[in-house]
Amino acid sequence: MTSAGRFAPSPSGELHVGNLRTAILAWLFARSTGRKFLLRVEDLDRARAGAEAGQLRDLAAVGVAWDGDVVRQTAREPLYAAAINRLQEAGLTYECFCTRREIQEAPSAPHAPQGAYPGTCRNLDPAELEFKRSTRPAALRLRAETGEYSVHDLVHGGFTGVVDDFVLRRNDGVTAYNLAVVVDDAEQGVDQVVRGDDLLPSTPRQAYLASLLHIPAPEYAHVPLVVNADSVRLAKRDGAVTLADLEAAGRSADAVRDRLLESLGLPHGPLERALAVFDPAVLPREPWVWSAP
Ligand code: GLU
Repeated sequence: MTSAGRFAPSPSGELHVGNLRTAILAWLFARSTGRKFLLRVEDLDRARAGAEAGQLRDLAAVGVAWDGDVVRQTAREPLYAAAINRLQEAGLTYECFCTRREIQEAPSAPHAPQGAYPGTCRNLDPAELEFKRSTRPAALRLRAETGEYSVHDLVHGGFTGVVDDFVLRRNDGVTAYNLAVVVDDAEQGVDQVVRGDDLLPSTPRQAYLASLLHIPAPEYAHVPLVVNADSVRLAKRDGAVTLADLEAAGRSADAVRDRLLESLGLPHGPLERALAVFDPAVLPREPWVWSAP
């Protein structure tokens, strides 16, 4: 299988300039290393009608072109089910009946990191299990055999983070992001993951899961986010931050692309021009404060 990079937006709304900047970076990382570039729509959750079409249009408008067909996670349930089966057969899963509230209110195990699942359902006896099954549908969790895992990141260097008994399949039957992303990247030949550094804390969970599935973890590059004037991650409420908003205010897609390239220390113009001089080693390491072009 040829190696590839990818961009994997969730079609929950419009992309903003922060997402577009990350997509440009993912494209540059992939192309500069001779990889294909794939586009995967992560629509298992929070998909909004019409959002995908708008996202694809905006990516194309700033020059991010992808190879082959767009892949949608909702069409790939059998792959996720097969991976979950393998974990189940290896005794690496358990059913969990906790509500969010119960998890929040449960006393956390001594030394357990903040936010880690407290393990309430990890060792239910058969009678408890039978009773709980009669009360509500179960989510499926990973029976993790470690509390932390280390990854290497091209931007951050070594990173060690929490691994807990995270959810693989929610109690409404939807495959969880952490499982889907690992299965998809492996199945699509993605061996380079470039995404916003808000996802760095999830990465040890994903790399650990890959190891349990005997999948090599991809190369990671978690890139700095775009923030507003208060240093808070950019969001729709920050005004004109989507291509549509900016175009309505008289800025062309080319001008927005150029502004994003400039923020990366790269030349204006088609992305091929930036590609010719792209050097990950000199990328800015700090969040970038957005101001309209
Ligand atoms: N779909 C995720 C998001 O839009 C990104 C997942 C990834 O790149 O691994 O936040």
